[in-house]
Amino acid sequence: EDVTPPSLEPFVPPGMGKADGPGTVHIRSLVKSFGPHAVLKDINLDISAGEVCVLIGPSGSGKSTLLRCIDGLEQIDSGVLKVNGEHLGFREEERSFKPLKRKELRVQRTQIGMVFQQFNLFPNMTAVENVTVGQIMVKGTRKAEARERALRLLAQVGLNGREDHYPSQLSGGQQQRVAIARSLAMEPQVMLFDEPTSALDPELVGDVLDVMKGLADGGMTMMVATHEMGFAREVADSLLFMADGYIVERGDPREVLANPQESRTRQFLRKVL
Ligand code: ADP
Ligand code: MG
Repeated sequence: EDVTPPSLEPFVPPGMGKADGPGTVHIRSLVKSFGPHAVLKDINLDISAGEVCVLIGPSGSGKSTLLRCIDGLEQIDSGVLKVNGEHLGFREEERSFKPLKRKELRVQRTQIGMVFQQFNLFPNMTAVENVTVGQIMVKGTRKAEARERALRLLAQVGLNGREDHYPSQLSGGQQQRVAIARSLAMEPQVMLFDEPTSALDPELVGDVLDVMKGLADGGMTMMVATHEMGFAREVADSLLFMADGYIVERGDPREVLANPQESRTRQFLRKVL
């Protein structure tokens, strides 16, 4: 096994107490490299249940890599990564950590939803089939129940009447909303969004952001890499600025945007605002 067990210290984030449970993310001293290239250098972060955290930072600063680590798509080199109160990829036993088996990891990962810039829908399946298939294949949900949930979620994201459309028959914004519904169908407790509106024509961005705002209002824990500063200002509980593999600054979105404390944050915001 080419896995490095996390630190053996029993992990209780300082001041977090029982907040280490469903809908939380706790990260300590996380390091992630690709070959010799350290991409995440020393990430420390606590996200509480129901929090909406927006990630900003220059291209290449590590936003996608951080989200991919939290989603279990990338194996971290070292550090502690707990999502929904569980070590990602490991089971804690007494004083040791056992790597999860492939199937166990798959189940753990259903608790974490991820939405990508490119919607990655199955092109040969209709909207409702896209939202149904994972429930059946991964969660073992019965077909009728999976379909019922899919129809409910498609309605929730504003796609009434589009259930039987194929991705090619939907706009980018509609496809992204199918992708969100598909993710929600797994009943995740944390949702990760990696530039969910960056590939969309400007007039289609609002509908997707509205769906995300609805999720936030419903109490979903969300981490969102985005350039949509309006969303950050109006919806996010915290704004996190990354540069060069570090979290440079984090705070109340309105305060960070109006009055950034770090010179690198100021430089970045001068370019994007
Ligand atoms: P961001 O999302 O903030 O633009 P990324 O996390 O995509 O940043 O990338 C951070 C750095 O990691 C970049 O230098 C990128 O080239 C590098 N990187 C990302 N994924 C890989 C990979 N699979 N292999 C090698 N390098 C990668
Ligand atoms: Mg990225």
